[in-house]
Amino acid sequence: MRIFFFSVLTFWHISHAATAEPLRVLTDIAPVQSLVAMVMGNVGIPGVLLDGNADPHHVQLRPSQVRAIARADLVFWVGEPLTPWLADPLKSIVRPGAANAMLKVPGTTLLYFDKAQVDPHAWLDPENARLWVDAIATSLASADPVHSDTYRTNANRAKIILSDLTVRAHKSLNGVQGGNLITAHDSLGYFANRFNLTIMATLADGEAAAPGPAHISALRKLIANNDIACVVSDYGQPDDRIRTLTDGFSVQSIPLDTSGALLPAGPTLYPDMIRAMADAMSGCVASPR
Ligand SMILES: [Zn+2]
Repeated sequence: MRIFFFSVLTFWHISHAATAEPLRVLTDIAPVQSLVAMVMGNVGIPGVLLDGNADPHHVQLRPSQVRAIARADLVFWVGEPLTPWLADPLKSIVRPGAANAMLKVPGTTLLYFDKAQVDPHAWLDPENARLWVDAIATSLASADPVHSDTYRTNANRAKIILSDLTVRAHKSLNGVQGGNLITAHDSLGYFANRFNLTIMATLADGEAAAPGPAHISALRKLIANNDIACVVSDYGQPDDRIRTLTDGFSVQSIPLDTSGALLPAGPTLYPDMIRAMADAMSGCVASPR
């Protein structure tokens, strides 16, 4: 039995190398797809499980998505705290070692909602993204050594783009630091932490559970006291809760696209998303109340 299993694996490796079949790479969300696409360059296009409008916290996998996981040679995902529903399919379907959780990349800046619960929205810190492209290149190179030089070169280029991005976002948010925000769900911690913005309160918690009336009236008090510079909602989510919150006040409210829903998929999505977030945030916080 063991011999048979070994020979099947060997056959798979030989056939894979001989036909130079492209590596099948799968990602969870569009921003991660974008980072992997930067590293893969012309070698191939990574797939993505969730389109930009899907709420990654709550997903029922379709059969086509289960098949995509089963066919993947490599998976890059944020990790179980963002998409708990993906942990089991990855354990049972993907080849051992093929699933790469970005939250587990050594050196990643991690924020916590409380002692036990990591904030999963770590892609919204471009310094994390810069770290991740190295880890992505290493995994790609070990699965596909033929292209390892290309992956390394592309990762180095991506790191320059991501460094410039951080500098530019700092510049565009310069002068609005210290502006207090209310956010629709607890997703902007990393962005605020990197760019020195203050999140006074969130409408829903980190898993995007619905807020109660007492919580809403407490937030309205904050706005009434003029302590809030901007209310940020999630792009694509219903904004009636935001309207309940801001009704009667002149506080600015903007939707922020934190998952690249508005942008074409691929290597430009991630930098464009961070740039758009910084510009929109800066406009909202700076506007007169
Ligand atoms: Zn979220």
